[in-house]
Amino acid sequence: MRECLAIIVASGRGTRFGSERPKQYLPLHGRPMLQYTLKAFADHPRIHGVRTVIHPDDSALYQKAVRELDLMDPVFGGETRQDSVRLGLESLEDRNPEMVLIHDGARPLIGAQVIDRVIDALDKATGAIPALPISDTLKRVENGIIGDTIDRGGLFRAQTPQGFAYRPILDAHRQMKGQAMTDDAALAEANGLDVTIVPGDEGNLKITENSDLERAARRLNAQIRARTGMGFDVHRLEPGDGLTLMGLALPEPFCMIGHSDADVGLHALTDALLGTLAVGDIGSHFPPSDPTWKGADSTIFLNRATDLIREAGGVIEHVDVTLICERPKIGPYRAAMVERLADLLALPQNRVSIKATTTEGLGFTGRGEGIAAQAVATVSLPS
Ligand code: MG
Repeated sequence: MRECLAIIVASGRGTRFGSERPKQYLPLHGRPMLQYTLKAFADHPRIHGVRTVIHPDDSALYQKAVRELDLMDPVFGGETRQDSVRLGLESLEDRNPEMVLIHDGARPLIGAQVIDRVIDALDKATGAIPALPISDTLKRVENGIIGDTIDRGGLFRAQTPQGFAYRPILDAHRQMKGQAMTDDAALAEANGLDVTIVPGDEGNLKITENSDLERAARRLNAQIRARTGMGFDVHRLEPGDGLTLMGLALPEPFCMIGHSDADVGLHALTDALLGTLAVGDIGSHFPPSDPTWKGADSTIFLNRATDLIREAGGVIEHVDVTLICERPKIGPYRAAMVERLADLLALPQNRVSIKATTTEGLGFTGRGEGIAAQAVATVSLPS
């Protein structure tokens, strides 16, 4: 297979946003915008490596944004976008790929099909870019007055990724150094390379202003579905010297019996979270027959479930746990439990609910033989 690398240009300062951090690191549905961009390329089977060009001031922001992605090391950009692309291209000289796709970090909603179309077109042309025909009538305006109407026939809006055979675009960038061009295709054209177009995508919008970020969030929301999972668990209570409940050690004159630390509340919640992904239950992920989990801290189980949700691109929206028992009395512990759980899930406390009830002295919980727990979790997942 012909080697194709992606260069993601993410070194701009995004001054039109007036925010502290550059726009490519602003949150989009809870994650840095740049993470979407990079993931689209890192996950694409026909892209063999992703090199990001970043600003030296953004190293920490970048590392935080890309923690879970498999990428090449970033390189630092230059004064202008064109300088940054050239530096990205230069950094690949040893690897000498056959093709490169150059993409704006601020186009986070790039789809796999557009990437495919650009790569396909490079079979026949030295360069290929996604573009959309202009449907609005174009007016040339001077001092607020329309001068003339421009024939829009044959006019297209250029998007990225712009794909090229590697050597010719590297040479073009070297030759045009210092001469400002609007995009990489313009630079290729000026160097006599043939650049073709493939259909772009309206969803592949470039985030330039706050309103674009809102538009991207709306598009993303349209692709997000809420999933609800539920969990239930019971553990036996016996006289002892303390128990673990909702991740807290409670000094009580009894203990919980189980293979792990028997944290019934975290077990119900872990099952609810696994339920949102439809990936089995706590027993299938952590078999009680496995001695590894003997006496295990149940936050390990919870963390595994939250990792799986994050890997699936999901966001935990809300959790609600009900503890059903006569003893211990939950009231005095509740605030500490909410604080602990919010911490474990990295959620604000108003998205973490812990409730308690008794069964009016009825049944095993009523007789104080055990504690039951129910949990419901709501998770947003890309559809
Ligand atoms: Mg259990």
